[in-house]
Amino acid sequence: MAPMRVAPVLDGKQMPDAGGRCLEVLNPATGKVIAQQVCCSGDDLARMVQSSQRAFRSAEWQKLTPADRGVLLFRLADAIDAEAERLVEMELLDSGKPISQLRQVELPFAAALLRFYGGAADKIEGAVKNTPGGLHITMYQPYGVVAVITPWNYPLVNAVMQVAPALAAGNAVVVKPSEETPLTTVALGELAAEVGIPAGIVNVALGLGPEAGRDLVVHPQVKNVSFTGSTEVGQLGLAADQMKPVNLECGGKNAIVVFADADLDRAAEAAVFSGFTNCGQLCVSCSRCLVAELIADEFEQLLLGKLSKLKVGDPRDEATHVGPMITRPQYEKALKYMQQAPKEGCTILAGGGKLELPGGLAGGFWLQPTLLSGVTEHMKVAQEEIFGPVLSIMRFAEEADAVRIANGVCYGLSGSVWTSNVERVGRMVQALDTGIIWVNTMLVGYPQIPVPPHKMSGTGIELGMEAVLAFCQRKSAVINSDQTAPVGWDLG
Ligand code: NAD
Repeated sequence: MAPMRVAPVLDGKQMPDAGGRCLEVLNPATGKVIAQQVCCSGDDLARMVQSSQRAFRSAEWQKLTPADRGVLLFRLADAIDAEAERLVEMELLDSGKPISQLRQVELPFAAALLRFYGGAADKIEGAVKNTPGGLHITMYQPYGVVAVITPWNYPLVNAVMQVAPALAAGNAVVVKPSEETPLTTVALGELAAEVGIPAGIVNVALGLGPEAGRDLVVHPQVKNVSFTGSTEVGQLGLAADQMKPVNLECGGKNAIVVFADADLDRAAEAAVFSGFTNCGQLCVSCSRCLVAELIADEFEQLLLGKLSKLKVGDPRDEATHVGPMITRPQYEKALKYMQQAPKEGCTILAGGGKLELPGGLAGGFWLQPTLLSGVTEHMKVAQEEIFGPVLSIMRFAEEADAVRIANGVCYGLSGSVWTSNVERVGRMVQALDTGIIWVNTMLVGYPQIPVPPHKMSGTGIELGMEAVLAFCQRKSAVINSDQTAPVGWDLG
């Protein structure tokens, strides 16, 4: 089958005349080319931002009430449901994700996000305060054109997570997906136009980060930037030097902390799920497993038992739990960590290298789910974000040690605590320096629960009503209603 052609979306349609470079899109499960991606030239990108600016200012968009915008988001959610199987197929080809994960988790979550933000559109409330002789109003207004830059690990979900609150707030969006996984974001741009979102309100730019991504964020008509991706790129500042608000959602090195009084079987199940779901390529996953010394040997055996039941392989098989690494560079990076880990003094309990699969999957980016034992605080695998199927087991003696180790990384995205001691729950929730903490559970997410990253994990906020406000410009007004109130020096 010849690779399909995929192009940037301008005014609801793929541009027939996009003039940038052409990139290959690979299926990571097979290593084969599935699409030729036409990128934006500098001119294309400028046309795209102009189109979004025009659409934002148009009467068609401006006359919509917030509730009308909500209805459009509901319609987009319905379209995602209706087109779910087509989108599953695209995402499966583009990312190699297991079909069950796409059908049961990612597509329903994308639709749920749109419904949550559809409902949020008419609940953006400012404040009115009585001031002597008048009123003080604080209001929220859309910025205009906002840029949304997304990574490759959850292509559709990450795009919807930002586009939906941006539209609920009344903005126009130019979204640039990762050059590795453009397919479902292109489909999202087309679907947005099909459900009646005015042309240009959702444009999709394609291209490399340092080219199309950079040109987009620094474009003078782009007023707000939402970036989801690596801490390294987030640290570049993007358009912060232009005084644009830049919402950064970046990396993590999260810890699951298991105390001796926990339900160990459930905790082991959670640790394996968290460490290996999406092949470890999830920003809020726990890649460090901190275990109380007292039960550490027993817990390692539990982890090994669960790992032996994990099915890694064909993404089309409903029984598959784990697919390939999504990109070749990420595959090579994670493999290097696996190979270097024993040199730092830890032990490979399971996995530790490439996974050879037969037939059509032989050319894919496959790695073995890997358990490392005896990992200590200062090892690279304990400090650096691997973003692959590597779970490092670290032992601790006291609660205070667990807190020190968990917080002893530069990131602060998520954490999970397993204990049956209620007082300990209270202490740990206070002590862990992360944006979200799960207690006796793991990776449970709802659109309404915000995740505000701490430390080098970012500066912004994701999910919840707060995400809508991140796409709103604040403005205050002081309205005087007292003609006798003094003005200035009273010069007469
Ligand atoms: P990345 O930083 O390499 O790329 C992310 C996006 O930024 C891509 O679209 C890329 O093209 C673009 N980009 C790259 N350089 C740019 C530049 N100079 N200007 C503008 N755009 C640029 O990240 P990735 O490898 O695609 O994704 C993996 C990373 O994303 C991991 O670190 C992971 O933790 C993080 N992530 C974070 C969250 C979160 O919510 N905190 C969610 C998902 C992924």
